[in-house]
Amino acid sequence: MTSEALPAPGSTERTRVRRLAEHAVNDRAALHHVLDAGLVAHVAVRDDNGQPYVIPVAFARRGDQVLFHGSTGSRLFRALADGQPTCLTVTLLDGLVLALSAFESSMNYRSAMVVGVAQRLTGDDELDALRCITEHLLPGRWDDCRQPTPKERAATITLALPLDECSVKIRSGGPDDDPDDLADPSLTHLWSGTIPMHETFGTPVRADHCLAETLVPSYVDGWQRS
Ligand SMILES: Cc1cc2nc3c(=O)[nH]c(=O)nc-3n(C[C@H](O)[C@H](O)[C@H](O)COP(=O)(O)OP(=O)(O)OC[C@H]3O[C@@H](n4cnc5c(N)ncnc54)[C@H](O)[C@@H]3O)c2cc1C
Repeated sequence: MTSEALPAPGSTERTRVRRLAEHAVNDRAALHHVLDAGLVAHVAVRDDNGQPYVIPVAFARRGDQVLFHGSTGSRLFRALADGQPTCLTVTLLDGLVLALSAFESSMNYRSAMVVGVAQRLTGDDELDALRCITEHLLPGRWDDCRQPTPKERAATITLALPLDECSVKIRSGGPDDDPDDLADPSLTHLWSGTIPMHETFGTPVRADHCLAETLVPSYVDGWQRS
């Protein structure tokens, strides 16, 4: 199915944003933007006793799929590979929103949620997915680093979750204060507003075993994500 033929974010019964629906965004470009800007996804899965867990994972978007991988030794990844329905979220924090009241204080964010069933990838498709995940974290690294061995591949479950049923919520702007608080003279001198948040990377640190004469690759040196 082409991207245009897939349901718009928030357009199915179980992905329709109900609470604060004004923050819902319904175009797939926004969905792709949030997924491409995120570095960590959280994936829900239940164990054999029905206990829910939420696993943070590295991930990448490839077209209309979210790709992530884990160990064959992980019972939770095996449950996902066996077809257990899941929910995956990616959250980007853009700032703290300090309202006059604790109740109205909030965060500025961009978040995406995907529901569905992941499929285990194999062969060249799996290898390409592993490349996508590595390249999503640091473009340029895949061609430079040692490629996965058959033994490493055998120890890995690589999953693709289709972007068929998704939703996106975005909050931006200042506090949405209660009119009674705005009119309350005792709160007139209380600071309110937003504290923006930005992602930054520090200076690369050479591993102890890395030779001093080995140059820092250009894709590492000064790496900034847009
Ligand atoms: C950084 C951050 C902090 C938040 N803090 C709080 C908090 O402290 N308390 C609180 O109540 N809420 C918080 N939210 C909002 C929260 O994620 C839910 O949107 C909200 O709780 C509404 O839940 P609901 O089940 O009533 O949503 P409903 O509107 O009933 O959910 C229906 C559908 O909307 C979609 N949806 C819901 N939430 C999101 C989302 N965040 N992103 C994408 N799709 C979504 C899903 O597809 C879901 O199935 C926060 C969100 C973010 C990103």
